Amino acid sequence: MKKIADIFSEKKRTFSFEFFPPKTEKGMEKLYEIAESFAALKPDWFSVTYGAGGGTRELTLNIVDDFQKRFGIPTMHHFSCVGDSRDALAAKISEIKSRDIRNIFALRGDPPVGVENWQSAADGCEYCYQLIELIRKHDDFFSIGVAGFPEGHINCPDKAKDSKYLKKKIDSGGDFVITQIFFDNKDYFEYVDRLRKAGVAARIIPGIMAITDYQKLLSFCKGCGATVPQKVHDIFSPLDGNEEATYKAGVNFTVEQCNGLLEGGAPGIQFFTLNKLDPIREIMGKIIR
Ligand SMILES: Cc1cc2nc3c(=O)[nH]c(=O)nc-3n(C[C@H](O)[C@H](O)[C@H](O)COP(=O)(O)OP(=O)(O)OC[C@H]3O[C@@H](n4cnc5c(N)ncnc54)[C@H](O)[C@@H]3O)c2cc1C
Repeated sequence: MKKIADIFSEKKRTFSFEFFPPKTEKGMEKLYEIAESFAALKPDWFSVTYGAGGGTRELTLNIVDDFQKRFGIPTMHHFSCVGDSRDALAAKISEIKSRDIRNIFALRGDPPVGVENWQSAADGCEYCYQLIELIRKHDDFFSIGVAGFPEGHINCPDKAKDSKYLKKKIDSGGDFVITQIFFDNKDYFEYVDRLRKAGVAARIIPGIMAITDYQKLLSFCKGCGATVPQKVHDIFSPLDGNEEATYKAGVNFTVEQCNGLLEGGAPGIQFFTLNKLDPIREIMGKIIR
């Protein structure tokens, strides 16, 4: 299966779709149904998230493996190190490799909710760059993506420090960055400038979520620390509870945001699909390719 780093040498812009592993059988059936329609949009890759604290271990692995076999599309395995020993992580990496999964999105992950003064597992990894070092023990078998935070990570609002930590992830073997969501493109372009000045040459792919539910958006942004700009409140607050109007406004907002990014030089988009086909299909039909 193709590595994402190799796709970059063929394409200036990439478009990709992130899914999460559903908790129910019905959700799984629906995911497989929509994945077929997502595949028809000819993305460069799919990616599948890893539940907090490794809560979807087998599920993520099996979906990634299955998607690659069914659709022939490279599918990236999100993989976090929080809570595991290095031996356990190394075993998991070997298992991923044995399934011909060649793309890993390496993450520290979030400590379990409500745990204060969290500490990594004995002989575990405290930060993502240490996980990347473990993955790179397999030399260039894997292409490795890392998470980037245009507004700074929620636990590290000092943007200069956060850029330094991002660089460490790339220097340790990360190939590219996918960002956390943001709604003001200025945040993305300033982030790219900051990272370039810090010596990061890797592609920085904007992570984009279509707004289809104002309340869910507010709670998601609260959890990850992304700012909801006044412009977003002004558009979506009056539509709160009106599904159809929110959907339409969400598609328009996201198309405008994506086109602004692409026109400004962003090397593609990774869509956080939330396992919803319709808005993403419509947006894909309206953005610059
Ligand atoms: C696109 C995207 C996809 C994601 N997918 C998932 C997923 O599938 N599953 C999941 O559980 N989570 C996922 N996350 C969330 C992610 O796990 C959390 O944001 C987590 O808190 C940080 O992970 P990280 O890999 O960025 O950690 P790190 O890069 O290790 O950073 C963690 C914190 O430590 C600080 N730090 C980093 N390096 C150092 C250092 N050397 N010294 C001191 N401080 C340092 C950072 O500033 C930050 O505050 C995703 C995030 C993004 C943006």
